[in-house]
Amino acid sequence: MKAALIVVDMQEDFCPPNGSLAVNEARTLAPTINTLLSNPGFTLRIASQDSHPPNHISFAPNHPPPNNLPFEHFIEMSNPAAGKETETKRQRLWPIHCVEGTKGAEIIPEIDTKNIDLYVRKGMDARVEMYSAFADAFGNLDAEVNRSSVDVHLKGALEEKGITDVFCVGVAGDYCVKYTAIDAARAGLRSYLVEDAVRCVDPGVGWEEAKRELREAGVLVVRSDGPEVGGLSGVV
Ligand SMILES: [Zn+2]
Repeated sequence: MKAALIVVDMQEDFCPPNGSLAVNEARTLAPTINTLLSNPGFTLRIASQDSHPPNHISFAPNHPPPNNLPFEHFIEMSNPAAGKETETKRQRLWPIHCVEGTKGAEIIPEIDTKNIDLYVRKGMDARVEMYSAFADAFGNLDAEVNRSSVDVHLKGALEEKGITDVFCVGVAGDYCVKYTAIDAARAGLRSYLVEDAVRCVDPGVGWEEAKRELREAGVLVVRSDGPEVGGLSGVV
């Protein structure tokens, strides 16, 4: 068994007090995530970063009023992959966040990044949302379009290191962490989401629904002090 840790989007814009899309209590995750980062049981430690151009499709102000309120309104988004343009998805609108090169896109200084082996920047294609660090919202993985959306082919990077198990943490539990964990399972890996190391945009009912989706996709929802994490370093 070889395990990887994926620290999802622990960036200034997702953290209180000043983040434009702050997830409640996101900054308080740092000690738990740092403990995981220092766990010698991980072969590979990865950090993903939302990295959007200013004209990104998910930004509410990039759409005409009146139906362009962040969090409240949704748009129809088309698959940018060649030949698949008729495929559409409902896309929630967000405040402007994690614009490439801005302070908001930086990983918060509380995260101990010295052990990070690989950074994945995602959401770089203005035309499409990309919650998962593996694929865009339409599941484009190896297509040309995905290469314009993400700077690392994550599935390939994990395979290269012989990774069998992936543990996902960070924000938001009900968006980017959830979809990254689901895509890890789809990639044929044992996939775990560490529940006490995530925080959600819609905690409560939203998170309960997300957990149902995760379980259906074969993702195990575990805790940082549970046997799955403990087993990595031989401490169960
Ligand atoms: Zn984003």
